[in-house]
Amino acid sequence: MSYDLLVRNGTVIDGTGAPRYQADVAVAGSQIVKIGKINEGARQVIDAADLIVAPGFVDPHTHYDAQIDWDALVSCSSWHGVTSVVMGNCGVGIAPCRPEQREALAWDLVNVEGMSFNVLSKGVTWEWESFPEFMTARRQGLGINLGFLMPLTPFRSYVMGEEAQERAATAGEIVQIAALLREGMEAGALGFSTTVATQHVGYRGRPLACRLASREELGAYARVLRELGSGAIEVNLGGAGSSILPQGAPELVDFLLTESRRSVTWLSVQTRSDQPTAHRELLTNTDALIKRGGIPQASCQPTDIQFNLRNPFLFGPYEVCHQLFNRPLEEQARIYADPNFRATFRAAYTKAPKAFSGQWQRVEVCKVKKPQYQSWLGKSIAALSKLQGKDPLDTFLDAALADDLGTEFSMAVLNFDPGLLREVITDPRVLIGLSDGGAHVDMLCNTGYPTYLLGTWVREREVMSLERAIQRLTAEPAHFFGLTNRGVIAQGKAADLVIFDPRTVAAGDKEMLYDLPGGEGRFVQRAEGVHWVIVNGAALLADGKHSGALPGQVLRSNARR
Ligand SMILES: [Zn+2]
Repeated sequence: MSYDLLVRNGTVIDGTGAPRYQADVAVAGSQIVKIGKINEGARQVIDAADLIVAPGFVDPHTHYDAQIDWDALVSCSSWHGVTSVVMGNCGVGIAPCRPEQREALAWDLVNVEGMSFNVLSKGVTWEWESFPEFMTARRQGLGINLGFLMPLTPFRSYVMGEEAQERAATAGEIVQIAALLREGMEAGALGFSTTVATQHVGYRGRPLACRLASREELGAYARVLRELGSGAIEVNLGGAGSSILPQGAPELVDFLLTESRRSVTWLSVQTRSDQPTAHRELLTNTDALIKRGGIPQASCQPTDIQFNLRNPFLFGPYEVCHQLFNRPLEEQARIYADPNFRATFRAAYTKAPKAFSGQWQRVEVCKVKKPQYQSWLGKSIAALSKLQGKDPLDTFLDAALADDLGTEFSMAVLNFDPGLLREVITDPRVLIGLSDGGAHVDMLCNTGYPTYLLGTWVREREVMSLERAIQRLTAEPAHFFGLTNRGVIAQGKAADLVIFDPRTVAAGDKEMLYDLPGGEGRFVQRAEGVHWVIVNGAALLADGKHSGALPGQVLRSNARR
């Protein structure tokens, strides 16, 4: 009885891309201590015959900052074998925060990440003011490991107050913000995040605070990482799915790389069937940046969303739609009905299409509020517009207005052509992620991407080996964020393991679950074929069910004092 845990008879795929091999894996405490033929016993023995033993998956792009206050299992990520998540992406978050700023930061999350204000009001505990306090508040009682990026918006708001949404910081403010970032890094944060995406509208419809950071500011913040020799930067550049990044975006990545001398990950490479060569051109255009460590993120599954017109997130890239954010229903209805609004909106998406581009055959009615509109269900706006003999935008908005803006629409937004998406996910230049876990939960659920990669891309479509897919889900993101103790199975590494059946592993159906604070709903996706999830040497999921253990830890960078 010399070990705490022994995983016996499994097939180990270690995360490095190396070929699989048969071995037992022994764990003592939270560490892998031996790999090979092991004859000694252990306190707990798992028989992994016919199963794959892989490192726990590392999700590099999530927004669980609020959800961890009410969901210790960090679902759905943990269900799919994710044992570590990086949170605080895209410049938005809830720390640091003075009590009087709570409402504004919550509204930022509503606008940028599609969270519900009611859920945040009921669910967030606000047991912190500084960023290190936020990290400490999350130390105990969680199922999986949390990595913290520092989102620039709350840092700027903390120092500049409401003016953070109006202007660049002064020299004095830059010094203060940089000092707070350094303090966060020394507490173990993994770097910082920001966005320049124009659809990221903040509190009261004004720009999200971090979007107004000047180059002088960003340079000073990047140099904090350079001085510490630690951390990475995540930047959301906007313009998802076109071949050309928004103006100034490549220069920004270049600038951040130069000033920080650290890695930068940027959003994103997506595929669009109306621009079938866009992703290729984007990767070619940014090849030099990628070679210097400016790594683009990509999704490995289609983005299907469900939305209603109360939440105008999808229209955020269009200036004319900013007036719709955070308005009462009557006011939104008045705007949607206004012929001038419609004309401007129509001209905008026709001239410069974004993710929402007036491709009406892809927008379908999936739920109606009033029973008399049942006949719309399953029909596309293109079909309804033909039936009604009306312009499609008018058809779309009139339908929603007649249904008190309660109509739910579904839309395949991006990455729905497997032929195009295959090119991206097999390209070694991208970092696979973009689950956006914790965000847009009433519209979509992409947190099951690891099992989707293993089930759909590896087993069904055979586009890459299981070894390569696991490397993409483990060592690649762990390495990017400097998590040297995670992402591979090796002696001395943290015992984060996922044990799954390669014949059945899959991302299951999506469904609405009403388990958010206040009983609100969210989309979830079940995992299939994931038998065991081990975090820091303890079984979190046993035969797919929560064991009761909460072995997660806060991941800390090497800048930690
Ligand atoms: Zn994000």
